[in-house]
Amino acid sequence: MASHEIRDLSIIGAGPTGLFALFYAGMRGATAQILDALPQAGGQLAALYPEKFVFDVAGFPKVLAKDLVASLLMQAGQFGQPIHLAQQVIGLEEADGIFTLVTETDRFPSRAIIIAAGIGAFTPRRLPQACAAPWYGRGIHDVVLEPKQFAGQHVTIIGGGDTAFDWAHQLDGVAKSITLVHRSDRFRAHQATVDAVLASASQGRSAVHTFHELSDVIAEDGRIVAIELKDIKTKLTKRVDCDVVLPMLGFVSDMGILLEWGLQVAKDEISVTQTMETGRPGIWACGDVNTYPGKLKLIATGFAESSIAVNQAVHWVYPEKKVNPGHSSNLAVFGQKDD
Ligand SMILES: Cc1cc2nc3c(=O)[nH]c(=O)nc-3n(C[C@H](O)[C@H](O)[C@H](O)COP(=O)(O)OP(=O)(O)OC[C@H]3O[C@@H](n4cnc5c(N)ncnc54)[C@H](O)[C@@H]3O)c2cc1C
Repeated sequence: MASHEIRDLSIIGAGPTGLFALFYAGMRGATAQILDALPQAGGQLAALYPEKFVFDVAGFPKVLAKDLVASLLMQAGQFGQPIHLAQQVIGLEEADGIFTLVTETDRFPSRAIIIAAGIGAFTPRRLPQACAAPWYGRGIHDVVLEPKQFAGQHVTIIGGGDTAFDWAHQLDGVAKSITLVHRSDRFRAHQATVDAVLASASQGRSAVHTFHELSDVIAEDGRIVAIELKDIKTKLTKRVDCDVVLPMLGFVSDMGILLEWGLQVAKDEISVTQTMETGRPGIWACGDVNTYPGKLKLIATGFAESSIAVNQAVHWVYPEKKVNPGHSSNLAVFGQKDD
């Protein structure tokens, strides 16, 4: 097992909260590292909605989620602290004042821990039909990273929530055709987007099949050319031209081991004080993973909480360093006059 050097802080999670925590640790002169289970940084923004605009991050009238992640990476990257991806934390050890986070392959020791694990390690919910399984990654994709890759293709989107409708709307005019399939006629999506997709369907640019589900995948020469849909009421089936299936069925998240570390836990979330303390000395929690009265699960909240958590942790590791960071506009670390 690879063992890494001891750092001041280990941050679990490379979502917006963890990335800002990494920046903040660097600004405070602390050595830090991030561990994330996913193969890319950005948490929910990168994994679930990279192409959506976010409108409520201070300073950005609107910003694509993936662009916000790129900016956060640039901001955190100026201190050269490591981000270890594809490293899911599955264990914690503590000895002689050092915490060690354990993954399948590596051990990451540090003096304090910041948990910024969001909704846990998450994976997209898979289609339950056995016929779909062999086509994942070869025509069935549950994450859309580059919408242009579907230009000129027959795209079927399965689901009735925000993500399904957002992609149906965004791929309208990019894909050759859009077919949206949902098991009921109740949608859990923003009404304006539902209206836009239904309007497109009424103009023949898209098709919406309610009370239908996937019943077969039809392939020729190793690629999907059509799918079969079954009406769940009449049991009748129909064939739909299709190159690509995008199941947008939400995701399954797993807090796993994190809730078993002797922290204060309330309904799969970590209860924290106003200084982001978790009940276990040396471990702080910020962002979507924590809870307290009045908690808002927003990017902006995670930023504020990560600065509180990191400043507390830095003071805990180095008691001579003040909790209050001072103003970045004055800091020598940025080449400014330190006062
Ligand atoms: C469709 C959608 C739209 C949204 N729109 C907005 C919006 O407009 N404005 C807004 O403010 N918020 C929005 N949000 C909410 C926002 O995305 C979250 O509040 C934010 O992502 C929380 O950031 P985080 O860093 O705390 O957690 P996350 O983004 O969830 O990141 C946590 C990271 O921790 C990692 N992790 C978890 N467990 C482990 C483990 N055991 N080991 C290693 N890594 C682990 C995960 O892989 C993940 O990368 C939206 C959310 C969704 C789903």
